[in-house]
This record gives sequence, C-alpha cells and structure tokens, in this order.
Amino acid sequence: MTARIDHAVVSGTFSLDGETFDVDNNIWVVGDDEECVVIDAPHSVPAILDVVAGRRVKAILLTHAHDDHCRVAPALREEVVAPIFLHPDDKPLWELTRGDSETGDYLWDLDLPDGWEITVGGVVLRVLHTPGHAPGACCFYAPSLGCVFTGDTLFNGGPGATGRSYSDRPLLEESIRTKLFALPDATVVHTGHGDDTTIGAERALLGG
Ligand SMILES: [Zn+2]
Repeated sequence: MTARIDHAVVSGTFSLDGETFDVDNNIWVVGDDEECVVIDAPHSVPAILDVVAGRRVKAILLTHAHDDHCRVAPALREEVVAPIFLHPDDKPLWELTRGDSETGDYLWDLDLPDGWEITVGGVVLRVLHTPGHAPGACCFYAPSLGCVFTGDTLFNGGPGATGRSYSDRPLLEESIRTKLFALPDATVVHTGHGDDTTIGAERALLGG
C-alpha cells in the first residue's frame, strides 16, 4: 500500500483566557488506503470524516489540548472507535475545554510519551515532546515521508504563540532548537494553522 497524507482546512473558534478568536485549523490524516491516524480534531467531525473517507482509524493524535485542536476529539472517537492520545502535561488545557471530570468521555485514552512510535500504513510516526506553546505540545515526525506535523509549535514564519496561559517562550524556542532543528533541513513542516514550510527555512529565519 502506498502511504498518503490527506488534508483539509476547517474553520471555527479558539478560546483561552476569556477571549475568543476565529481560526482556520489544518486537519492531517496519515496512512494508506486501508488505515490512518488523525492528527488533531478541530471544529467539525463531518469534515474530519470526509478526509478519513471510510478508512479504519487507528488513533486520534492530539498535538496539544487547546480547544481548537481537540474540541471534537471525543465525538470523533465515538464515530471511528479509536483511542485519543495526548501528552499528560496538557491536562490543565484539556480540562479547560472538556471540564475536569475524571471519568468517561471527558478524558483522553492514552498518554503520548516522548520518543514513542506508532506505525500506520507502513509509516512510522515518532512523538517529539516539544513543550512551550503548551506544556504537553507534541510533534509527530515521519522519517520515511520526510515530514513533521508540528501543531502550533512551529509555523511557516516562526514559533507558535506564547502570550497566553500555560505557554513559555524560552521553553518553546529550546524545544524547536533541540527537537525540530535536529531534523534534516529538507523536512517538510505540516503546521496546525496555515501553510507548510521546511525545517531549513525556519532554521534560517530563527537562527540556529
Ligand atoms: Zn494552540
């Protein structure tokens, strides 16, 4: 089976610290013609199911728990019967979105450990814990595809935002330098919002 990456952009809102913004989020689906994983669950279950296109979903991988990335994750889980993965350091953000119930639909299923790998459609995705934009922010690196899915850690044009609660700019820059800039320059960066970039282009912008 040939590996493939499918993508859509969905619109909705992001709320934190008492403010709400309109945002466009990228949906990334990685796998082959039989199975896939979904990276982030923003705004609309039907929009995500369109990209999945009937394939078996092995996992819902969350780059972090800001509400625009995880709001419909539990509803998507109901539809596709796949576990939700999240780094446990994002529990405070998850609770802002989902409430703090310890049971049932309100929790994710499995923790994302740094360095852990999941294989889907012959593609290995490696978890890179990259705290800073959020404490539990993770990127997913696919060496065989020459790409990395960065959520809001690294965008086309620089690091993600750090102005709000639970974010840390020096920590974000350290994560980018130690984890993402360790990847080859040609690595394509698929972001949580906006256009693709490459590790080399962002390295040139940020220095290092
Ligand atoms: Zn975010």
